[in-house]
Amino acid sequence: APRHYGWVHLDGELRPAGDASLPLTTQAFNYGTGVFEGIRAYRTHAGALAVFRLDDHLRRLQASARLLKIDSLPDLPALRDAVLAVLRRNECNEDCYIRPLAFKKALLPGAGFGVKLHGVSDGFAINCLPMPSPPVIGALRCCVPAWRRVPDYCIPARAKVTGLYANSALAMEAAHSAGCDDAILLNVLGNVAEATTTNVFIRKGRRLLTPPSTAHILEGITRDTVRRLAAEHTDLVIEERDIALTDLYGADECFLTGTGREIAAVVAIDGYQIGDGQPGPTASALFEQYRAAVRGGLDRHSDWITPVY
Ligand code: PMP
Repeated sequence: APRHYGWVHLDGELRPAGDASLPLTTQAFNYGTGVFEGIRAYRTHAGALAVFRLDDHLRRLQASARLLKIDSLPDLPALRDAVLAVLRRNECNEDCYIRPLAFKKALLPGAGFGVKLHGVSDGFAINCLPMPSPPVIGALRCCVPAWRRVPDYCIPARAKVTGLYANSALAMEAAHSAGCDDAILLNVLGNVAEATTTNVFIRKGRRLLTPPSTAHILEGITRDTVRRLAAEHTDLVIEERDIALTDLYGADECFLTGTGREIAAVVAIDGYQIGDGQPGPTASALFEQYRAAVRGGLDRHSDWITPVY
């Protein structure tokens, strides 16, 4: 099990993790009414810890919180300070993962009863844990489960809502019971949406394709990083386009992108081998560029990293 650091942020204060508890009646715990982020910090080539694309993650957190009417979230500079304070209090100096979570807490006096957003107090927490980055590119076997991605018109898929992750957990469970490493979900239209915690890319010849933001997906920050790196370091034509199952099974390469998994190649889908069954050249090249970027190794993208100390 991952070792967590001893100090967390809860509602404006740094506290020992053991002192940070919430009542069983917490609304987000009962109804999935929370929003969160997954952020990574890396040791840079210079040996100092730095957070990757911190402001982009925090802006997405703000957008997610707005949709759930979590109005009391700190502003961007205060969020940034809170994340850095947790890392500093834990004297964190190794690759790690940071989890800010904004959530609906308790009905306010006079707000009556029921499942709703208005009239419910907000909470905000940050915890972090050590998380080494993958030493070599992953080679995943995926399946397409019967579960479809929750459509954006039911729960905003473009926001990182905690309740959405019941969908990811069900899909991952189906993948594991079929002997696969991850699930690639279709959306309600039958097009490729995303995997359980990552976005999907495929390469077909000289074209690099990824589903558009309207495909009921989370617009991943890694997806954006990878598109920019691909534009700079490859001669591929990059397109946001609907991807059908036929495109997926027939891809020359397929890979997943996300903060946690970084970039992982998909080498088989539902028993179809992708490419030659090994991580392909595009995924491998982008993996190397990504690894350089997150550790501050790309001069033109030094604005992607925020030093902690
Ligand atoms: N899709 C889903 C459903 C996710 O949970 C994540 C992880 N945040 C992603 C995509 C990838 O997003 P990012 O690259 O911003 O981590």
